[in-house]
Amino acid sequence: MTGSIDRAGCEWLQYDYDPALVAGDRPGSFTMWRYRDLLPVPDGPVRYPLPIGGTPLLPAPALRQAAGIPQLWIKDETRNPSASNKDRATALVIEDGLRRGLDTITTASTGNAAVATSFGAAAAGLRAVIFVSTGCQPEKLALMTEAGARVFQVPAGYAAAVDLSRAAAREFGWLDRNTGANPLTIEAKKTVAFEVWEQLGRRIPDAMIVPVGDGPTLVALDKGFAELVSCGLAERQPRLIGVQAERCQPLVKAWLGAPAGPAELDPAGTVADGIAVLRPAIGDAVLDAVGRSGGAMVAVSDSALLNAVATLAGRAGVGAEPAGAAALAGLESAVESGLTDRSETVVLLVTGREVKAAGPPADPSRVAVVEKLDEVEQALAVS
Ligand SMILES: *Cc1c(COP(=O)(O)O)cnc(C)c1O
Repeated sequence: MTGSIDRAGCEWLQYDYDPALVAGDRPGSFTMWRYRDLLPVPDGPVRYPLPIGGTPLLPAPALRQAAGIPQLWIKDETRNPSASNKDRATALVIEDGLRRGLDTITTASTGNAAVATSFGAAAAGLRAVIFVSTGCQPEKLALMTEAGARVFQVPAGYAAAVDLSRAAAREFGWLDRNTGANPLTIEAKKTVAFEVWEQLGRRIPDAMIVPVGDGPTLVALDKGFAELVSCGLAERQPRLIGVQAERCQPLVKAWLGAPAGPAELDPAGTVADGIAVLRPAIGDAVLDAVGRSGGAMVAVSDSALLNAVATLAGRAGVGAEPAGAAALAGLESAVESGLTDRSETVVLLVTGREVKAAGPPADPSRVAVVEKLDEVEQALAVS
C-alpha cells in the first residue's frame, strides 16, 4: 500500500499497481484473502478465523430463460458465514484489530453489519458492542445476542446510532467498523469485483446491478474494477446500476436532481431494511462512481422487491431478503429504460439471505435502549 487520497469524501487507499498483484495461480482456497496483495494486510498468517468471500457466481439457467438474458449471472453473497456481504468488511476490520491488539469492536447497523460483526467478533474472541435503531428486525436482533454481542437500541434511528457508535469508538478506543467511516470496509468489499472478473474467465461484465444503502458496496466495486484496469488486467469498467427502495431513495432523487418527498425518505416504510438509509454515509462517492461508469440509480417498489425475492427462490434457488434481492428488482427497469440490453453480460449482486424461522428471541439482558454515551458506559459497567 502506498498511501491514500480523498475521493468524493471517502478515503481511497492506493497501491503500486502491477498485474502480479492479482496472482491467478496462487494456491490455496478461493477466499477474499486470495487478493491480499491488494489489501492492507501486512505479511504473516491471516488471523481472522472464518472463511470469507469466494462466493459463487451462479449462471441461474431458469432465471436466464425467464428474463430472456442469456448472460445473466448472480453473484451470491448470501454464502458468506453470516449470510450477507457485510462479512467481508467485518473480516478485514477484525483482522486489523487483532493485529493491533484491540479487544472490542463497535458498529452501527441497519441489521446485517451488526449480525456479521457479532458473529465475526465471537469467532475472533473480541467483544462486540452494537448500535441499532429501535426499529431493527427482531430476528436480526436475536442473532446478535445469540452470538454474545451487547446491543444498544437508539430511538432516534440509524443516523443517531452511527453517531453514538463512532463517539464510543473514539472515547473508549474501540475498533470502529462503521461503514464509510473505516476505509477498510471498502477495501474488503472491492474483492467482489476481483472475484467476478476471475469467475467470468478474467473478463469484465457489461453491467453490474447493486443494492445501495450507505454506499460502500457499490463504491467498492468501482474501486475494485478500477484497480484491475490500473494493474493492466482489464481495459474498461462495467456500468454500475445502483438500486434503492422507492420508500427510501435519497440517492435516486439526487441522481435525478429532483427533490425527495417525505414518502420517499421513510426508512421504516420499506421491506428493504438492509438498504433503508436516510443519509447515506458516502452518497457523493456513489453518485460519482455511477456517473463515471455510465450507469444510473433506479428505485424499485416494495412489491417489486417481494416479487424479486420470490423469483430468486423460484427460478434460481437462491433465498434472499428483500434488500438482498433489490438487484433483480432493478433489472427490469434497467432493461426497460435502455440502461442495459438483453444481449449483454449482466451480474446481479445478491447481498443478503432470507431470515429463517426465528430461534430464541433476543436475550433481554444484553439489550438496552440508550440515547447518550454515558448510558452506554453505565450499562457496560454493571454487567
Ligand atoms: C448493507 C446492505 C446493502 C447495501 O450496502 P451499502 O454498502 O451500505 O450500500 C445491500 N443489501 C443488504 C442485504 C445489506 O445488508
